[in-house]
Amino acid sequence: MQTIRGFRDILPENIALWQKVEKEATRLFKQFGYEEIRIPILEKTELFARSIGEVTDIVEKEMYTFADRKGDKLTLRPEATASIVRSYIQHKMYAAEPVRKFYTIGPMFRRERPQKGRYRQFYQIDAEVFGVESAYVDAELVFILNELFTALGLSDLKAHINSLGCAECRPSYQKALLDFISTKTEHLCENCLRRMDKNPLRILDCKVESCANALTDAPATLDHLCSACDDHFNTVKRALEQQNVAFTVDKSLVRGLDYYTRTAFEILTTNLGAQSAVAGGGRYDRLTEELGGPPTPAIGFAIGYDRLVEVMEALDNVPTPDVLDLFILTLGDDATHKGYIWASELNRMGLRCEVDYRGKSMKALMKRANKLNARHVLIVGEDELAKNALILRNMTTKEQTDIQVDQVVDTCLARLKP
Ligand code: ATP
Ligand code: MG
Repeated sequence: MQTIRGFRDILPENIALWQKVEKEATRLFKQFGYEEIRIPILEKTELFARSIGEVTDIVEKEMYTFADRKGDKLTLRPEATASIVRSYIQHKMYAAEPVRKFYTIGPMFRRERPQKGRYRQFYQIDAEVFGVESAYVDAELVFILNELFTALGLSDLKAHINSLGCAECRPSYQKALLDFISTKTEHLCENCLRRMDKNPLRILDCKVESCANALTDAPATLDHLCSACDDHFNTVKRALEQQNVAFTVDKSLVRGLDYYTRTAFEILTTNLGAQSAVAGGGRYDRLTEELGGPPTPAIGFAIGYDRLVEVMEALDNVPTPDVLDLFILTLGDDATHKGYIWASELNRMGLRCEVDYRGKSMKALMKRANKLNARHVLIVGEDELAKNALILRNMTTKEQTDIQVDQVVDTCLARLKP
């Protein structure tokens, strides 16, 4: 039996970087006042269709959707924002506290062509802020991403930011865009032609080469912002400049989901070939209302966790494996029984300790101690027990000390505890 295409196991030998990322991210979230939320993996299809948008790649082509035994249409979540908005509305979170900051970490599912940095089950680290329209929250999210990547040793990452405007300025922009696009229809793919009526902004995000070429001189949202959006974007830029966060204003950045307004951003790397975005996010000031909640400004980001780990692997940024403080090498039943009791106690008290219970020879056990990277080995053979002098060997210096049987736990704790 094998995993499904695009799905994969993350094996223990590769988990260290995943844990390092998660530890750093949760530390930062806590520091900045973000609360963890856990949302279901399965939702009604309608939630994603309505929030992400019917004519987006995700909804049209990438979702895992099926009918359950009663015929309800369900979808494996392709992203986290929609579910968090649903949860925010369902639990009337706005009533208790107008400003909420959340994070969540978990698997997402999109049926796209698998390749390096692109899987059908992949992981995201997601953050969302509800209830604040201020541009300082936009800056804070980019700042947190920058902090995280710096803490992880990734200095080559670049933030690209743009503003997509709001309900006020979007119509005049869309008109300018449509006027432009209607002169280019012969170069556009079928999908884009269909998108023209539904959501012309989507066309700017099309990956088909002829579409992208035809649109190089398309009007930019930035040149059509109303004064409120302009002020908002200027505040984001000013804050980031003052915080020394390097960023590029990227007029062509539109993001592949329908719900974005105002600030949109992506963090790009040069280390992953075509799959260059390690994180993306933006404001969605109208989504909560569109899904049936009260008008609530909001903004969030999602980090591609798999890609982040791959960038770190590419940089050889791999943490050193855990060491074993003590290997208790036991020969014979009596020694093994004692070894088991000592090891349990030492592990409980904070010393990493192992015993091999397979009844192997001295030579085989020494080999295993070396393989496990043990810093010390306690030799417990019949002779040592008879003489009440167990041998504690420092595997680095080769120095040996005798330890009495009733002193094992205390001595090991005193001498070996990191
Ligand atoms: P892309 O343009 O690479 O398809 P996207 O715009 O579809 O990305 P988002 O929906 O913004 O991606 O998701 C945020 C992040 O999640 C992306 O920047 C990327 O790092 C990661 N991501 C998206 N899809 C996948 C996938 N199939 N496999 C691995 N990571 C992914
Ligand atoms: Mg995509």
